[in-house]
Amino acid sequence: MHKTIVIGTGPAGLTATIYLARANLSPLVIEGPEPGGQLTTTTEVENFPGFPEGIMGPDLMANMRKQAERFGAEFRTGWINKVDMSKRPFTLSLEGGEELQAETLIISTGASAKYMGIPGEKDNVGRGVSTCATCDGFFFRGKKIIVVGGGDSAMEEANFLTRFASEVTLVHRRDEMRASKIMQDRAHENNKILWGLNKTPIEVIAGDNGVTGLKVRNNATGEEEIIDTQGLFVAIGHTPNTKFLDNQLDTDELGYLKVNPGTTETNIPGVFACGDVQDHKYRQAITAAGSGCMAALDCEKFLENSAVHDWSQSL
Ligand code: NAP
Repeated sequence: MHKTIVIGTGPAGLTATIYLARANLSPLVIEGPEPGGQLTTTTEVENFPGFPEGIMGPDLMANMRKQAERFGAEFRTGWINKVDMSKRPFTLSLEGGEELQAETLIISTGASAKYMGIPGEKDNVGRGVSTCATCDGFFFRGKKIIVVGGGDSAMEEANFLTRFASEVTLVHRRDEMRASKIMQDRAHENNKILWGLNKTPIEVIAGDNGVTGLKVRNNATGEEEIIDTQGLFVAIGHTPNTKFLDNQLDTDELGYLKVNPGTTETNIPGVFACGDVQDHKYRQAITAAGSGCMAALDCEKFLENSAVHDWSQSL
């Protein structure tokens, strides 16, 4: 049995792991399908304190992992099918049938990219449709690209993709952006970016060789048109990764895990949540890391108290 299992290896999970490992709690860390989390699919991180010249997202995550390993954290790769929190210790069922038990859990599974849900979109993932500019931008050298979205992600992806593309059209369903001013300004200063505002995407058009265009409706006139493109990058936000928890933990209306204010405690004592899976507001690497630290300290305190408190009555 493990004292604590950390689920997820983004900045939140790895920071929690570093603290837990240094506190001699021998955390077991379960790495899911996207080890290192969203930062492994980003380019340069300029706002993580301590790196005046910036640092590449994958390097930052590799450093955090190394730091956790240095203090003896154990890592396992696995897909968790189910978590039983109805009795103590908690039981995790991994794909393949193996079961793991833990006194406490730290949920740091982050959030995943959203899709628009329009015809042709999911069928063409890997054939021109992508949610990760860093991963796939290189495949579109000299080609026309569309980025969908009006937030910071869309601005960042569009700017990044101009390194490869002949032109990038930003398609947004309103004529007002959600992105911060600095990110909008950067996109406006980039003369390889074209603007397709007030246009709602309605269908991805593709042929034998992949995506050829995006059909959009002009919201002012109702007219439909097809914008030619070979690459379609969907940058419209994220969904928290909580499905495997099977509604055992309280969530807000958007599906993010609820924690007691000022803590990382969920509604089940001994289960803590940190990072993007419980934060739809800030969603920054540094806030995720900060909440990972909080989760480790909350968890330590819980384990200390459980020596004198019988939690079995609390489920
Ligand atoms: P976001 O701020 O939620 O923006 C999502 C955008 O996608 C919105 O403009 C939204 O349109 C559009 N959208 C949503 N569903 C759509 C649909 N079905 N079809 C078409 N468009 C759709 O998400 P985000 O840009 O991923 O940013 C998330 C958070 O991360 C933000 O807090 C952001 O500041 C932060 N972030 C920061 C940086 C940075 O500082 N370097 C980089 C990336 C992200 P509406 O505006 O009409 O709702």
